[in-house]
Amino acid sequence: MDLIVGIDLGTTNSLCSVFKDGHPVLIPNTHGSFLTPSVIGILEDGQIVVGASAKELRVTHPERTASVFKRSMGTDRTIEVGGQSFTATKLSSLVLCALRRDAEAFLGCRVKEVVVTVPAYFNDNQRQATKQAGEMAGLKVRRIINEPTAAALTYGFHDRGAEKHLMVIDLGGGTFDVTLMEIFEGTLEIISTAGESMLGGEDFTDRLMATVLKKEGLHLETTEMKQPLRTARLREECEMAKRQLMTDGNSRIRLPDAQGTFDESKALQLNPDVFAKIVQPLMRRIRDPINKALRDGDCPPEKIDDVILVGGATRMPVMQKFVADFFKKRPLVSFNPDEVVALGAAVQAALIGDDAAVDEMVMTDVCPFTLGVEVAKEFGGRVSSGYYQPVIHRNTTIPVSREEQFGTMVPNQQEVLLMVYQGESRKVADNLCLGELRIVDIPPGPAGTEILVRFTYDLNGLLEVEAMLPSTGRKFNTVLTNHSSSLSSEELATAVAEMQKLKFYPRDDLQHQRLVLYGERMVGEVGPFHRQQLEDAIDVFEHAMSMGDRELFDRARLGLLMTLEQMGVGYDETDETDEDVAGDRR
Ligand code: ADP
Ligand code: MG
Repeated sequence: MDLIVGIDLGTTNSLCSVFKDGHPVLIPNTHGSFLTPSVIGILEDGQIVVGASAKELRVTHPERTASVFKRSMGTDRTIEVGGQSFTATKLSSLVLCALRRDAEAFLGCRVKEVVVTVPAYFNDNQRQATKQAGEMAGLKVRRIINEPTAAALTYGFHDRGAEKHLMVIDLGGGTFDVTLMEIFEGTLEIISTAGESMLGGEDFTDRLMATVLKKEGLHLETTEMKQPLRTARLREECEMAKRQLMTDGNSRIRLPDAQGTFDESKALQLNPDVFAKIVQPLMRRIRDPINKALRDGDCPPEKIDDVILVGGATRMPVMQKFVADFFKKRPLVSFNPDEVVALGAAVQAALIGDDAAVDEMVMTDVCPFTLGVEVAKEFGGRVSSGYYQPVIHRNTTIPVSREEQFGTMVPNQQEVLLMVYQGESRKVADNLCLGELRIVDIPPGPAGTEILVRFTYDLNGLLEVEAMLPSTGRKFNTVLTNHSSSLSSEELATAVAEMQKLKFYPRDDLQHQRLVLYGERMVGEVGPFHRQQLEDAIDVFEHAMSMGDRELFDRARLGLLMTLEQMGVGYDETDETDEDVAGDRR
């Protein structure tokens, strides 16, 4: 059996894991970090960089990078990067390619199969797109699992004897997920799940940015369009200030000008109270999904034994305070919120691979939203369409297969166009259309001729729809036609071929590339007095990189590192995201 690697494909950071010697372990990238920023960059010569280097490039050349694209998964939206356009699926597949290379370097063997985690609230289109991103990267996606479920698996793996009600609260970069579950005798049962796919830590940063810009009479979206360098710098600044609140309790945000140079006199002082006020509208949106999950699971907050926090944004003091007040207890601190999902993906991989270390573990998951079809209703002789008839209700344990009976509207109706939706609203217009199924050649008969519709929702969270005419026994299968992200096998082959044409920056040199990019960013920071000296040191190092002379290379690298150090902007070898983690093993 092939080895299966676990992947947490995050909006902000992605991680890779494997089940090894009876335990889930994380796989480091070439920088020695477990977190790979989900950022793509295209260098001037067209080579692609992923992760820390791309994040570095984002500050100086935002137009040559893409980030937060997970939010556009499953849509047709294209994202411009360095003059080329990409779909979110394609950008995600570049992240997966990079993670695969890291995993292969770590494991010393080919990686072909993966388990990928997605937010529980990802809809069918977004899941399909995730699966395709894997396929484009040449990976077989063995299972797509919900991120909170993965977090619960890590918990369950470590505490198999527990009998508890748990709540997983995951606030990542772009999504918010809440999951209620019960654990007893090694069985993990997901009871209910709720969330918002458009709420995450990045929105908190956005609000900070908007507040700073508003003071100058500027609007975030227009400034982002017109002055990308300014907003890129400001984003970094706000991100840092936001994180600093956790450790220092105080921080300040300097405002960069249109060229990205900071104006020290225009700074916003930030403390937890000011921050809480700025983000109040977002905190209001945090409460609803928690209440919904508790209500759906018929579980009052007092019944929750443990709250597991997942996702970098749960480190915000406002979040911790909110959780403590709401549940009247402090969240569990034994898991690292950045790592718990990826570790769970490896546990899931072990379950699929029948690893002996997990043989007494059982897990059941639920369908996070209601799935149904459009129906017409008759009132006083008048027929109106647009109503939603659920077939599978939200929070039903999966896999599930349900059949519902429908009828034709008029005598001798020959065709029915079955429209499939997902969502909770009474009218289909407010729900998400997943696709359609055309039922044809219905034999002549009265109105109400029976049509049986079967929905099958599998463990990956993917839906199959089938219709059957009992009168003829004829069956019609899904092909949900307007899956915007569905690819035919030829389209997939073309996409894979296109991917193969893209040139990745050599993995072994990525670290050096990142140093160059960091140096370039610092050129703008060190002031005119040091500028020339720093540029020279970068030139020498860049030249040495292309020469293949080890001694020359080492000397040039050391020279650049020392130059940076002397200028008070020392370079940190490990990714900065990881440094935070190290200081916060909660
Ligand atoms: P995702 O799973 O979506 O990739 P992560 O779990 O990596 O996201 O969380 C990323 C988010 O967490 C970002 O919005 C980041 O700003 C935020 N974050 C990380 N560390 C901190 C911190 N110490 N304080 C506040 N926010 C943080
Ligand atoms: Mg995450």
